[in-house]
Amino acid sequence: MTPKLTDPFERPISYLRVSVTDRCDFRCVYCMSENMTFLPKKELLTLEELDRMCSAFINLGVGKLRITGGEPLVRRDIMTFFNAMTRHLDSGALEELTLTTNGSQLERFADQLYAAGVRRVNISLDTLDEEKFARVTRWGRLPQVLRGIDAAQQAGLRVKINTVALKGFNEDELFALADWCAARDMDLTFIEVMPMGDLGNEDRVGQYWSLDDLADQLRQRFTLTDLPERTGGPARYVRLEETGQKIGLITPLTHNFCESCNRVRLTCTGELFMCLGQEDNADLRAPLRNHPDDDAPLEAAIRAAIARKPKGHDFDYSRQRADGQVSRHMSHTGG
Ligand code: SAM
Ligand code: SF4
Repeated sequence: MTPKLTDPFERPISYLRVSVTDRCDFRCVYCMSENMTFLPKKELLTLEELDRMCSAFINLGVGKLRITGGEPLVRRDIMTFFNAMTRHLDSGALEELTLTTNGSQLERFADQLYAAGVRRVNISLDTLDEEKFARVTRWGRLPQVLRGIDAAQQAGLRVKINTVALKGFNEDELFALADWCAARDMDLTFIEVMPMGDLGNEDRVGQYWSLDDLADQLRQRFTLTDLPERTGGPARYVRLEETGQKIGLITPLTHNFCESCNRVRLTCTGELFMCLGQEDNADLRAPLRNHPDDDAPLEAAIRAAIARKPKGHDFDYSRQRADGQVSRHMSHTGG
């Protein structure tokens, strides 16, 4: 049997996040600038290469794949890739195939995703107000996303809403969002904004709303109980005792989660980032392309990369400076 992937700190690597495109039909203010330059198509892994890459990780023990981007569902023929991954679900080698999406294309794809074996989706939604939605996503339209969410639920997909907490933007919608998710039986997770990429004139520090502060606001109406469950990532969970609702808080900046980190991230060009907050990466595209009929060099490169996984990251917002800032965009690494 192939030995499983374990990093130098004895953390088993069981979770791969894969960005399948850097492109997107939205231009969220905290994620992209309005006039983004995207990668030339030849730089991207082809769908066949993505299949080989993910299959190599699965062969090395990765049991959970999350497909992201950019917007994964704007990649042409992306269902070919999802359908190819179904064989790993069927064999039992892959436990879970999920995606993170802005929801704009779900009306079209929800049924097909379910048929491919996807059972859960994370849908990003920062506001329930149509005008604010257009402002924060620049190009997005709320009714289209709401139809996508309906389609996902109708298809049988479990939906989790991801909301980026933005100072002065959605603070006033905290309870409205929580109530709306509870009424529709959807999980809700708030994400603290991270210092990623050069976004032109957007003021990142000004957008930062600490989730400790968000939790304090929740406490004004509810009794919060911290839940012990961990996912190996930056999320922690609280339960609102009065309603039983569980809310996730993703706080990479204010709470350290690195000890239990079980994940690595593959970009759409085949670079493997071993830590979301560090620049070090490994080129997996070269061993993949240079050896079209032999996966051994690719698997060796994956093992060598995991052996370099750092102990942790060093984002730091102290003194109102976005220290530890990482120059790449979230849409490149895959959020
Ligand atoms: N386009 C898809 C979407 O929006 O869900 C998938 C890719 S997007 C990069 C993944 C997640 O990263 C989204 O939930 C988005 O809100 C989040 N995100 C993007 N930029 C971020 C930032 N600077 N800080 C925190 N979260 C960010
Ligand atoms: Fe696109 Fe997602 Fe980034 Fe928004 S957060 S611009 S939807 S990739």
